[in-house]
Amino acid sequence: MSISAPQSEPSPSTTDQLVAANLTYASTFTDPGMDARPVRRVAVVACMDARLDLHAALGLELGDCHTIRNAGGVVTDDTIRSLTISQRALGTRSVVLIHHTGCGLLGLTEDFRHELEQEVGQRPSWAVESFKDLDQDVRQSIERVRTSPFLPHRDDVRGFVFDVTSGRLREVAPG
Ligand SMILES: [Zn+2]
Repeated sequence: MSISAPQSEPSPSTTDQLVAANLTYASTFTDPGMDARPVRRVAVVACMDARLDLHAALGLELGDCHTIRNAGGVVTDDTIRSLTISQRALGTRSVVLIHHTGCGLLGLTEDFRHELEQEVGQRPSWAVESFKDLDQDVRQSIERVRTSPFLPHRDDVRGFVFDVTSGRLREVAPG
């Protein structure tokens, strides 16, 4: 950049915009007086996908559920960690698993880890958890929850595929 370039206001970063939006939010916020236990005693495990508005799609209100999200909505050890705390310390009983059409993980393979290792010289300890068959992956996720010895409530575990073009959920029968 040239020294004589005119000084202009730096445009606000995305994070700055979020912080500004929070000021507006907080200006009308009233304490709902809830405790930490989800009102509807449900934990939803879903993909982090930006097109998936869980509360709107499932008719959930503030305070209703725990939301556990990651790439793919897969049930990893860390997902089990959150579910265990959700059930044992905060009273949830039902588990809802949501994958979706057009997931970014559908195009990846475990080669992703190999490529990472080539690039940075270190192999990640985590699996990519990529998949080619959505329904099969939902079934695997259901099975991982149902077989976890840490979870006291494993009788109400259901899995779905959310269609990002229609907004509809389709249930996947467990394997
Ligand atoms: Zn996804």
